[in-house]
Amino acid sequence: MSESAPILVTGASKGIGAAVAVRLAESGYDIWLNYRSDHAGAAAVAGRIEALGRKCVPVPFDVADEEAMNRALEPLLNEETPYGLVHNAGITRDSLLAMMRREDWDLVLNVHLTGFFLVSRLIVKSMIAARRGRIVAIASTTGETGQAGQFNYAAAKGGMIAGAKALAREVAKRNILVNVVSPGLIDTEMIEDLPLDKMLAGVPLGRVGKPEEVAAAVDFLMSDGAGYITGQVLGVNGGLYI
Ligand code: NAP
Repeated sequence: MSESAPILVTGASKGIGAAVAVRLAESGYDIWLNYRSDHAGAAAVAGRIEALGRKCVPVPFDVADEEAMNRALEPLLNEETPYGLVHNAGITRDSLLAMMRREDWDLVLNVHLTGFFLVSRLIVKSMIAARRGRIVAIASTTGETGQAGQFNYAAAKGGMIAGAKALAREVAKRNILVNVVSPGLIDTEMIEDLPLDKMLAGVPLGRVGKPEEVAAAVDFLMSDGAGYITGQVLGVNGGLYI
């Protein structure tokens, strides 16, 4: 790690975000732990981080709510500039386009894409002043290839990839690196209702991934070893759709 400064992980009360937060704590970072509603889950993750000897500051807010985000983060940003940001918070509201409700389009776009815009805009200002930083967006294979029943989610994730590439060009001269980790099927609550038997036929490695396997990729992108990597999309997908 470059120095002792925290990393903000959004959506870290469970699943991939929780694994990312713990893995980054293992690498020596303090964590600002965002989530929306699962206080018990977030407290359990915070306990694991503190057991590693790192600080964990819980920052519950809805990433689509600009005012709530500013209220939670501005006092922290006045004290300290985070080394990294991982925008991981996410939800799905799947249905075929012909049946998709306007509210499910708005919600998915707001959490993934507007959330990424809002949180990156806020954090990057202090990173620019500090002249260093790492930003990782958690997208999805769906954002690269599309997926039936996921017009909203595919558009949001594809938008995150494009936004990350634009930002990477914008802030490279300030020593801020921006990349995307794009998971395939990962074993979390998000996929518990999917027909996995059918879907695994399309995964060359023949299994779902573990949240820890996504966390390892994020940890690498935060490391000194990834210092010449920016604007890239790193798939963690068992070979899906290659
Ligand atoms: P998960 O287990 O359902 O966890 C989602 C996390 O996001 C929770 O901590 C949740 O907080 C938080 N969250 C949801 N809406 C939020 C909001 N508006 N504001 C703040 N936090 C919010 O999902 P996951 O599978 O770990 O997914 C994590 C990310 O990976 C998502 O962006 C997802 O799209 C992406 N991804 C997942 C897979 C997969 O197969 N699992 C594949 C590709 C990409 P609370 O529970 O506290 O509300």
